[in-house]
Amino acid sequence: MKLDVNVLRYLSKDDFRVLTAVEMGMRNHEIVPCELIDRIARLKHGGTYKVLKNLLKHKLVHHDSSKYDGFRLTYLGYDFLAIKTLVNRGIFNGVGRQIGVGKESDIFEVVKEDGTVLAMKLHRLGRVSFRAVKAKRDYLRHRSSYNWLYLSRLAALKEFAFMKALEEHGFPVPQAVDCNRHCVIMSLVPGYPLVQVRELQNPDVVFETIIAAVIRLAEHGLIHCDFNEFNIMIDDDEKVTIIDFPQMVSVSHPNAQMYFDRDVECIYKFFAKRYNMSFEENENDSDGLEVEIDEVGRPQFSEINKNSGFLDKELAASGFTRKDQDELEKLIEGELEKQSDSDDEGTADEEDEEGINNTNVKQLESLDLSKEDVNHRAGDDKHDDNHQVGDEH
Ligand code: ADP
Ligand code: MG
Repeated sequence: MKLDVNVLRYLSKDDFRVLTAVEMGMRNHEIVPCELIDRIARLKHGGTYKVLKNLLKHKLVHHDSSKYDGFRLTYLGYDFLAIKTLVNRGIFNGVGRQIGVGKESDIFEVVKEDGTVLAMKLHRLGRVSFRAVKAKRDYLRHRSSYNWLYLSRLAALKEFAFMKALEEHGFPVPQAVDCNRHCVIMSLVPGYPLVQVRELQNPDVVFETIIAAVIRLAEHGLIHCDFNEFNIMIDDDEKVTIIDFPQMVSVSHPNAQMYFDRDVECIYKFFAKRYNMSFEENENDSDGLEVEIDEVGRPQFSEINKNSGFLDKELAASGFTRKDQDELEKLIEGELEKQSDSDDEGTADEEDEEGINNTNVKQLESLDLSKEDVNHRAGDDKHDDNHQVGDEH
């Protein structure tokens, strides 16, 4: 078991202090020199070095002495910083089983004091490319580790801001609870991703609901961009919930039309294949959808886009700014280029070193991290919330 959150219970205040010092050092160092960590942490009697050894043992940091003696955070170390901050805020106090492994995220159940179960999404943007970069040691070495922290944090911030705005406008999305670093806490959606649902009582109703949602999104100025059977949840009553928002774009994006058509096409194809639905028959029947349809019934972006917008602008004024959006897109594009440059290199097993293996983290023993317990044992580092990697970039 790779993400052993039990470790969290045994980490002391000093452990978190040093872990935070490594995080701060990573703002401008890929590998943070030991002396710098020591200077930031300011522990007495060379305590920093002893603590670093302990953090290394638990795979919360990675040691590198190729150029100089230094450390960097692992995914696990970053996870623990976010988890501890959220526990201290009283958002939840226990981490449960893993419920999803995405390409670029891991999703766990977390439990509140009153027993309510929430979902925790840990963004791992750059995970794939980071691996590739590691395989090609000298390739864009600088920035590589810094990027995964920064990218993941931006992705989480974006997802949280979008989820919140969509929820406020009555879209069927999880309730956005909180966000810290690369971690988003949201309500747990009942049911399963559509891809796992073999049979539906009313496939046509579900289909219409989904298409109506993608249209309404566009009317509000947004395109999901990954709208498919993996990101649509269906519960026992066949209620639809849309998830996974880090890649959403505004209808004013230069490729908006293409993204919209692709989202729509995915749904049409899926329902045609899985539920044998035929769309040609609907030619002149929009089934109550108040939009133009093309010859095979697809909603037309040009028609919707005529009078759409406002949520995209509203979001631009929220916590997730236009600048963040541009930067995230630029970084993702940069990461993708790096990926295609070194696609065949690096395997999932290389993640082991990071303390988390994509395929290995299947279960987590439930853990009671009551607030008191964590505060008592791990200390309450006030500066946790204030220093985020990449803030000034
Ligand atoms: P990714 O960006 O990696 O695809 P997703 O947000 O799509 O991540 O989540 C991956 C999987 O985790 C989903 O397919 C779903 O099974 C599960 N999941 C994600 N969010 C929730 C949630 N709020 N409630 C229940 N399950 C969820
Ligand atoms: Mg997904």
